Formats: sequence, C-alpha cells, structure tokens
Amino acid sequence: FRRFSTSAVASEEPNFLEMVNINYDRACQHLDIDPAVLELIKRCDSSLTMTIPLRRDDGAVEYFTAYRAQHSRHRTPTKGGTRYAPDVDLVEVTALAFLMTLKCACVNLPFGGGKGGIKLDPKTLSLGELERLTRRYAIELAKKGFLNPATDVPGPDLGTGEKEMAWMMEAYRFYNYDNIYATATTTGKPVSFGGISGRTESTGLGLYYCLREFLNDAYYTTPVGLKTGIKDKSLIVQGFGNVGYWAANFLERDGAKLLGVIERDGAVFNESGISVDEVKKYLIKKGTLKGFPKAQFYEDVQDVFKKPCDVLIPAAVERSITGKNAVNFNCKIVAEGGNGPTTPRGEDVLASKGILVLPDLLMNAGGVTVSYFEYVKNLGFIRPGMLTRKLESTTNKWIIDKVMQGDTKPSKGTISKILDGPSEQDLVYSGLEDVMCE
Ligand code: GLU
Repeated sequence: FRRFSTSAVASEEPNFLEMVNINYDRACQHLDIDPAVLELIKRCDSSLTMTIPLRRDDGAVEYFTAYRAQHSRHRTPTKGGTRYAPDVDLVEVTALAFLMTLKCACVNLPFGGGKGGIKLDPKTLSLGELERLTRRYAIELAKKGFLNPATDVPGPDLGTGEKEMAWMMEAYRFYNYDNIYATATTTGKPVSFGGISGRTESTGLGLYYCLREFLNDAYYTTPVGLKTGIKDKSLIVQGFGNVGYWAANFLERDGAKLLGVIERDGAVFNESGISVDEVKKYLIKKGTLKGFPKAQFYEDVQDVFKKPCDVLIPAAVERSITGKNAVNFNCKIVAEGGNGPTTPRGEDVLASKGILVLPDLLMNAGGVTVSYFEYVKNLGFIRPGMLTRKLESTTNKWIIDKVMQGDTKPSKGTISKILDGPSEQDLVYSGLEDVMCE
C-alpha cells in the first residue's frame, strides 16, 4: 500500500497526525473561537491498541496488532472505517479518526469521528484466517466499548469491504442477540446482511457530484483556467480501487476522458484516452497495470503524476502529494478522493502554481454519508427492499386516486411503478446528491 508514497515523502515532511494537526491549526486561524475549545476539538478522546492471536491454517499461532481510535464523541456513535494494511499504526488511525470528525461535521452527519485497523497485508491470509481474525477483532473491540451501535460503528476502508463488515456485525450480534439494533453495528455490509444499495460506489459517486457542481459553474472554473462542464475534461487517477474507479466511471459517463491510472507498482498513460472499464478489468485479472495493451506503462509512478491533465484524483493512501513531487504537477485541479493525500507543504506548492485543491473532507464524504443512510435503515429495522416501496409519494397517490376513481386504465408499466416506486438505489443516489451538493 505504501509504495505509492515512499519516493514522494521527503524526510522533512511531518508525519500523518502532525500533518492533520497543521491543517487544523491553519484553519483555526480563520476562526474566532476560544483557543481552549479549539484545543479540545483537536485532541483524540480515546484510543485502543490490542494484540490479537490467530491460529493459522497450518496450526501456528501468529499475533497481530490492532487499533481503534475514537477521536471525538461530541456526537455518538463515532464513525469511521477499518483499515487492513501493513503500515497501519496508532498515528495513522488517530489521524484518520480526526479527519472523520471533521468530515462528518462538514456534511453535517450526526457522528463523531473514529477509525480502526489491523497491521497486516490481507493478501497473505487465507479467507478462513481473515474471517477468524476479523471476528476476533470485533469481539475484542466490543468488549472494550469500541464496537457498539450506540457508541462506535465501523465501516470499510482500505483493505476491507462487505465481507469484513458482515463478519464484524455477526460477531457482535452473536453475543448481543437481544440487542434489536445489533445490525447497525457496522456499515458497508452486503445488502442481504442489512446493507444498503449503492454503498459500494458511494464515495466515488459523491466525488462525482461535487466535481460536477464545481465544473458546471464558471465562477469556480474561470480562475483555474477551465471551461465549464465535465465533457472532455481529462483525468489522471491515482489508486483504481473502489473510490478511484467509481469516480472515473461516473465522470466518464458525462464525457470526461481518463488519460492515466497510477497504481502501486507502476502507472499507465495514453493521451488519447483509456477506457475506465477496460483498465479496471485488466487490473482485476492481472493484479497489475503492467502489460495493459492500450497505454504506455511507467515503472516510476511520478512520471505520470507530472503529465498534463485537467483533474488529478488522488484516491489512494495519505501523503502522496508532497512539497517534493507537487513541484512537477501539470494539472488544474486536485480532487482528493483519498484521506489526507496532500501534505501541507504539498498544498503550499500547489497553491503557488495556481492548482486548486478540492479537499477530502467534502470530496470523499459520500461513503460515510451512505453509511449514515444504512445505519438509519438498520435502526429503523427496515427489511431489505422495503425502501423500494414508496406508495405515499405524491405522484403515486395521484395515480392511485385516478385508478380508484376509474378515470384511467393504467398500463402494465404504470402498475408496476405504483407497486415498486423508486428503487432503493434511486433513493440513495438522490439522497447523496442532496447532501453533497448542498
Ligand atoms: N472509510 C470511509 C471514509 O474514510 C468511511 C467508512 C464509514 O462509512 O464509516 O470516509
């Protein structure tokens, strides 16, 4: 995971937590708030470091270090992802938890900020080992008050997804079967386990909504030297996982052109454009961009960071854009898909070059926003598919009245519209659009 940044992070750059604190202090200079209150907001409320044993498939016992930080409990539960990566440590989860506090406040979700993770490379474990470790992690968190639908609700992050969220929720529910809200213990679950349609693509979709609003307004685009509209805008995306892929996918549907993709072990670039789905399929099949036939491959990812484009989307790990590599950037906008991709020094350099940074706190808030919808759905004890019935909507009431009065002979299509209403995915998309564009 970390190979993205190693060549770019100069030793003089602050660590991740220092970096988030510097950004916070900079923002505070513009606020007329009691410094004691600002300091209180800055400090992490509670954090946990644990050792978790795992019996490997061959019988050996291995120990893993796991974490969870609850940055702020000014609103509960605390909310934030679960990261499985070799470099996870307390500094990283604390910094990420702080960003979650700020992100939830930014889009006004009633959550404090949290984050957790296990220091491991998930690819080195079998599926069974991963399941046993994840369930044990959940039980240990719950015993210590760091997993509970009322106090701390993890979601997915780098290296975790639907299955880990389902295992964690199930582990909690097993011991708390009398808690009617147990399904709300995690978010990002499969739909069949109480998840919500649209959660997978939500972070990338949220980024798309924000960027669309920005690009459609000449007030914003003129100062950075861009014409309005998404059509024909060129993109380079760093990290083609869930966030980067879905952001590129939605932008491409509106006519944007993907020129480059930067991954762990190299990058590809083609100034005539790359198909988002073709490159994603290749990456899934081969596990690398090397050999992708429709673009040039670059061993040194910095070569592609430098290429000219309209929008650069860093959607990988933190601290990828630093004072050192930002000097060479040739984009107009950096739209932050990942958490904390730009160091303060990197941001200063970008500003001096007239490159605008659209910040992570808003740009990647789509994921936790749809997690909020899922959480509310679980608390409401709403069964899967229930949201697909919206008989009370004005239009449907009007149609039903007409049918009752015998005024109209509804076609087959109209009847199924009355019965189905908008799909859960439609509701999630429009709810997310409202939150992101507000
Ligand atoms: N990992 C997501 C983020 O960084 C949030 C996960 C959640 O939904 O809690 O925003």
